[in-house]
Order: sequence, then structure tokens, then C-alpha cells
Amino acid sequence: MKRIYLDYAATTPTHPEVVKAMLPYFTGSFGNPSSLYSCGQEAKGAIQEVRVRVAELIGARDEEIVFTSGGTEADNFALKGVAYANEKKGDHIITSSIEHHAVIETCKFLERRRFSVTYLPVDEYGLVDPDDVRRAITNKTILISVMHANNEMGTIEPIAEIGRIAKGAGIYFHTDAVQTAGHIPVDVNELEVDLLSISAHKLYGPKGVGALYIRKGTKLIPFMHGGEQERRRRASTENVPGIVGFGRAVELAQQEMSEEAERLTYLRDQLIKGLLERIDHIRLNGHPQKRLPNNVNVSVDYVEGESMVLNLDLEGICASTGSACSSSSLEASHVLLAIGLSHEQAHGSLRFTLGKWTSEEDIGRVLEVLPQIVAKLRAMSPLLKSHR
Ligand code: PLP
Repeated sequence: MKRIYLDYAATTPTHPEVVKAMLPYFTGSFGNPSSLYSCGQEAKGAIQEVRVRVAELIGARDEEIVFTSGGTEADNFALKGVAYANEKKGDHIITSSIEHHAVIETCKFLERRRFSVTYLPVDEYGLVDPDDVRRAITNKTILISVMHANNEMGTIEPIAEIGRIAKGAGIYFHTDAVQTAGHIPVDVNELEVDLLSISAHKLYGPKGVGALYIRKGTKLIPFMHGGEQERRRRASTENVPGIVGFGRAVELAQQEMSEEAERLTYLRDQLIKGLLERIDHIRLNGHPQKRLPNNVNVSVDYVEGESMVLNLDLEGICASTGSACSSSSLEASHVLLAIGLSHEQAHGSLRFTLGKWTSEEDIGRVLEVLPQIVAKLRAMSPLLKSHR
């Protein structure tokens, strides 16, 4: 059976070109970038090239890029780094209620350490209202963190507007761009952000590598203490093969982004339209237009998301319910609850995220299989029986 992978927001397959670029750095060019001899310096040069490339992707300067172990570390670094470096100035942080756990849990950690956090609500589409940000600012606010696009329902937030507000108030602004960098245009100056998180494995790069953009002049403490790597902002021997792979993935994204976004938007809309036509008691979660080109998130009444995922898997189709991080927990997604869904609706959610190897044929297959699965599950659903 052909496997149809539709969970690109959870992770992407590493592009074969990326694997090819990484291989020499495991063996021939394996040197430590801090070593003075040539194979160390080769590795150092390779990392610097990637730094320039990642900076170019987001309109930054190369010295403003710090490599990390991924999106989670970049988020932790931004929030804890700014909080502790600016604690004399204030103790208040503003974020949204739909952030990834990497931000939400870091905020909770900081709350247990005398910082206070405002979690802004979102509207029915998952949008943060910039006026809410403005109203939440106090003279103790040191940081605002709002994600560029939500990983579960794909809604793209008004980051540039929030950026203007933050800049006007002289408050640092971080955005988690893990789901957008390499997929839609991201420019740190247009968005007016001071800190921005990226993860390589969401853009066909390897897992375990990412970056934090830190605008020059931003006051934050180093995340890891030890050697002098990353201009003393993040100690530890660099993940050279990972960073090289990240660079190749960014290069490919730069070449293919606009065409790919257009192709995926078409497929996404085919899938949304087809599902809404073929299945009753179904709703689209997230904003109909202000959404990632590859994201389809629906709630299907009277059916459990987990049951749909498992039945799709039997048909060779990989999808998810909520985010990958919460797929093993029974808690309803905090994102779907935040847009006003009931626990039942949140539990009946299904996310398809499309990518480079998704074809029109794959979308056709989902549209053929899912209505049958829903009908089968509803026929034995206690949820439906209690409703009747
Ligand atoms: N932020 C967002 C929006 C994400 O979707 C993810 C991954 O699911 C992360 C952060 C964490 O990134 P990583 O897996 O590289 O730690």
C-alpha cells in the first residue's frame, strides 16, 4: 500500500539533497569548528556560510543568528534569556493562549519564578487582536511573544501590527516562526521582531537543529554556559552536519517557496472544499484565508480524532489530531479550546498538513477514504446515539 504522509507540520522528511550535503561532515570534514587546523576551519567555514544563508532567508545579518538544537531551544532561549537579562526593568510578559508548548511551558516556568504572564485570548479563527496586546502592556512589560502561524490550525497572526506596537512601547518582541520560515515570506524588519525562532526539521532539514534570530542590541543572557561558541551566547560544539543540512534546506526553500506555496494552497483548498461537501456536521478550524498554505484542520462531530487517525493509518494515510506533542495525551488541545470549541469538538479534530510530496491524487484518496471512515465510526458512536 502506498503511504500518504500528510503530517508535514509535525515533521518533514529530510530532503535527499539535504542528506547528500550533510554526509561529508560526518566523515571527511568532521573537524571541530573551534580547532585551528584545516579540517576544523573547513567546518567553521561551512557553518558561517549557513549563518549567512539563514540570515538572508529572514532579512537579518549573519551575526544575529545563533544556532540551537531546534525550535524548542530557540523559544526557551528567547523567553528565559530576555526575562532574566531584563528582570531589573520589569517582570511582565505578554503571550497568546495558542502558543506551542515550547512557549507556554516556558512561560509557566517563569511564572513559578516571580515573573507574571498575560495569556491573550484569540477570536474564533485563532487571531490575536493587536489592540489586546496594546491594552495588556504595563510599565513592567519586558517581552511580548506571539507566534507567526499556529501549528495546529494554521492561522497566520498579525505580527507586523503587533511588532509596531511593541517597538512603539520599547518592549522586546519575539515570534515563533517554526511553521512559517521557509514556507511563506518572513522578514524580521517588516515584522518588526527582535527575536525569531526557526526549526530545520519543519523545512525538509534534519531534526535537532534550528536557530534563534537575535536583533543586534537585544539584551539577553546566554542559554548555555561553557565554551565560547556562537559568540558566547550558546556554548557547546556545533552540530556541524545538522547545520550544513539546515543550510541546504534553506537554500532549497528559497528557490521553491513561492511556487510551492501556490501549489499547496490549491491542494489545501481542494481538500477543504471536498471534506466540507462530503461530510456533514464538520467545521473548518482556523482562518479561511489567513492560514498556512499547507494546513487543513477540521472538527468532525460525533467522532473521536484518535479513531479517525488510526483508521486513516490502516489505509496508509498519516494525519494527526491536535499537535504531535499532545497526540499521546487525552487532554483536549488548548488551541482548539481557545477558539471556543467544546471538549467534544476539540477531541473530534483532525489535522492534515501537506508538503513537497503531496499530490492531487493523494488528496483524492483522502476524500474517498475519510467519508467512509466517518460513516463507519458514526454508526457505532455512543456520541451520536446520545445526541439522537
Ligand atoms: N514551535 C512550533 C510552532 C512548532 O510547531 C514546534 C514543533 O512542533 C516547535 C516550536 C518545536 O520545534 P522543535 O521540534 O524543533 O523543538
